[in-house]
Amino acid sequence: MSSAIDLYARETPGFAERLAHATELLRSAVAEHAGHIVLSSSLGAEDMVLTDLIARHHMAIAVATLETGKLHAQTLELVRRAEAHYGITIELHRPRAEAVVHFVRRNGDDAMYRSIELRKACCALRKLEPLERMLEHRTAWVTGLRREQSGERAHVPFIESDEHGRSKLSPLADWSWNDVWHYIATQQVPYNPLHDAFMPSIGCEPCTRAIAVGEDFRSGRWWWEDEAAKECGLHVKTEGAVSALPQRTQNTEGASA
Ligand code: SF4
Repeated sequence: MSSAIDLYARETPGFAERLAHATELLRSAVAEHAGHIVLSSSLGAEDMVLTDLIARHHMAIAVATLETGKLHAQTLELVRRAEAHYGITIELHRPRAEAVVHFVRRNGDDAMYRSIELRKACCALRKLEPLERMLEHRTAWVTGLRREQSGERAHVPFIESDEHGRSKLSPLADWSWNDVWHYIATQQVPYNPLHDAFMPSIGCEPCTRAIAVGEDFRSGRWWWEDEAAKECGLHVKTEGAVSALPQRTQNTEGASA
């Protein structure tokens, strides 16, 4: 079976500049938000690139993830592997146990399949509430959002203000899927083996499936729902993008993964 590296790693024109820009964005953010900045990592391929950049350049950026209680075993194992590889501790932010017990008792363990409202309620208690705690006392956060991931994300800026006035950075906004895997291959970044099983976007186990050739990048997430509903609320759109560095134009080279 071909690995994700075999399938996707390809150097395309402008990669070195995109890498330099992403690194500079992170450095500038560290200078501005020393001790108060976190990478909110899903442990997906993009977030492993960012983890590698942070560790490689000894940047004072905490790495944290939402341990929803519904992650794949492979994702949890990657936490341990990444910690050992980089010599870091990854913060795990879990939902409140009593809220989960109450929700499951009332709605069952498969509530997310029954309605969008129940799915969003599950995301709210397992992801949004723990995210709030992750971001408490922090003035900036880093995400692995990229513009080509979905129509909803097509205009993701490098830096914006979230609804609480924190800086939200997406240093890989203009990276292609080929860029991500080129970096992973050349820097030997640990990654989730589920990417080798045709899961480009990995979330909770009940809400992630493999995609077929030609399907959209995020079609394996909440596949039973309409396209427009497919966000969990972690990345609500905000107005007023700001930038501390010159904005680069959107990269469209190698945009099809
Ligand atoms: S992705 Fe699925 S399992 Fe995870 S929090 Fe959302 S609805 Fe619940």
